[in-house]
Amino acid sequence: MLTAVCGINWGDEGKGRMVDLLSENYDIVCRYQGGNNAGHTVVNDKGKFILNLMPSGILRDNVVCVMGTGMVIDLKHLFEEIGRLKSAGISITPENLKISDKAIITMPYNVLQDIMEEDRLEKATGKPYGSTRRGIAPVYADKYMKKAFRMGELLDLQRLYKRLPDILEWKNMTIKAYGFEPVKAEEMINYFETYGKPLAKFVTDTGIYLNEAAASGKNIMFEAQLGALRDIDYGIVPYTSSSSTIAAYAPIGAGVPNLKLTKTLGIMKAYSSCVGEGPFTCEYFGEKAEKLRELGKEYGAATGRARRVGPFDVVASRYGIRCQGADEIALTKLDILDGLEEIEICTHYELDGKIIDEFPFTDVLDDCKPVFEKVKGWHKDLSKCRKKQDLPKEALEYIRLLEKLCNCKIKYVSVGAERDAFIKMY
Ligand code: GDP
Ligand code: MG
Repeated sequence: MLTAVCGINWGDEGKGRMVDLLSENYDIVCRYQGGNNAGHTVVNDKGKFILNLMPSGILRDNVVCVMGTGMVIDLKHLFEEIGRLKSAGISITPENLKISDKAIITMPYNVLQDIMEEDRLEKATGKPYGSTRRGIAPVYADKYMKKAFRMGELLDLQRLYKRLPDILEWKNMTIKAYGFEPVKAEEMINYFETYGKPLAKFVTDTGIYLNEAAASGKNIMFEAQLGALRDIDYGIVPYTSSSSTIAAYAPIGAGVPNLKLTKTLGIMKAYSSCVGEGPFTCEYFGEKAEKLRELGKEYGAATGRARRVGPFDVVASRYGIRCQGADEIALTKLDILDGLEEIEICTHYELDGKIIDEFPFTDVLDDCKPVFEKVKGWHKDLSKCRKKQDLPKEALEYIRLLEKLCNCKIKYVSVGAERDAFIKMY
C-alpha cells in the first residue's frame, strides 16, 4: 500500500495528527516536500509535539521515517529538532531515520534572503508574501538555479568546501545589492561542521531503500506539508509555498518516481483557516473571526501567527480535492463547531454579479465575494464521540452535506487533537 496524505485547503488541516493516527498500519512514513516552514502538531500518549522537518511517523516505534528528495533541510533546525525529540525520549537512529542524499540543504544565507526580501516588499509595496522567513523560497530558487548544496555532500565535506567560494561569490552579489554584509566562508564552514557533520550518518539513497521496501510488500505513507492552495503551481501564487504540495508529486519527492500511489487521503478541515497573506474569499472579520479563531485555537504551529479563519469553503475545497486526486477524505476539527447555533458554509463565489462554483485564477479571487448558506448546529460535545452512532443528527447531516457538495467520501472525522479522538465513518 502506497498512500499519500495531503492537504485539501490552505494547510494546517491536521495532516500531522492524521499521519500519527494512521501510521499504525504503515512501515514507513516519508515527508516528500517543503522544509521547516511546516508545523505539524501531534498529541498522543508520548506527549504533545510540534514537528517541522521530521515526518509525523517518528513517534511510532515500529515506523521508519524518510526525509525525501523533494525536501529542503535547514541543518541547524534539524539538528535541534532531533535533540528536542531525543530529550523527550524518542529514539532517533540511522535505523529509523533516513535522509535522502538528494534533498537540498537550506543555508543560513537563504534565511537572510527570505527576511531581506519580505522586508523590502513590505517597504516597497506594503504587501509582503507572508513567508515564514525560514529561507524556503530562496533555497528552492537555488535548487532550480542548480547552485544549492545537497545532503549527500555532507559525506565529503572537503569536496563541498571546494565548491563553496564560487557559490558564495555568486550569492554575495545578491546580498550586497540589498545593502547587507557579504556572507563569509568561515561562517558557512562552521555551519556544516557544527550541524551537518552529526547528520551525515542519516544520509542515504532513499530511492533504493524505498524501492526495496515496496518490493517486499511494506506499506509506505507519503506525508505532505501545507495544502493544495499553497502549491507552487496550483495554489494562490505568489502567496504559496515554493514546493509541490500535490499528491502526484509524492513518489518524485520521496525518491521513487517509478512507483505509483495506491491511494490518496485528503485532509480537509470542517471550517477554513489560512495563515499569512493572499486572497481568502470566505474570510470572516471582526467578532465572528475572533470567536472562531479562539474556538479553533488558530495560531500557527511554526510561527505563532494568528491564522485567518472562515467557514468551510466548498469552491476552494472541491478544487483542492481535484488537484490532490483525493480518493477519500479525513474531515478534521469538527468538534470546534460544537457550540454554534448555526453553521455557515461558503457554497459559491459571486463574481461581477454572477454566481460561480469553479475556483478561479488567483488575480480574479480579489474580485470574488463569498456566498454563505446556513445549516443548523448541534448542541453536543463531540469530543467524546467515537462511533458514527454517537454523533448528533445535525453533525451527521453536516458531514453528509460536505460529502455531497465536494463529491468525495469522508472516511474519517476527527473530534479532538488526541490520537484516539476520531470516528471511522465507513
Ligand atoms: P498540519 O500542519 O496540517 O499538521 O496541522 P497543524 O498541526 O498545524 O494544525 C492542526 C491543529 O489542530 C493542531 O493544533 C492539532 O493538534 C489540532 N487538531 C487536529 N485535529 C483536531 C481535531 O479534530 N479537533 C481539535 N480540537 N483539534 C485538532
Ligand atoms: Mg501546520
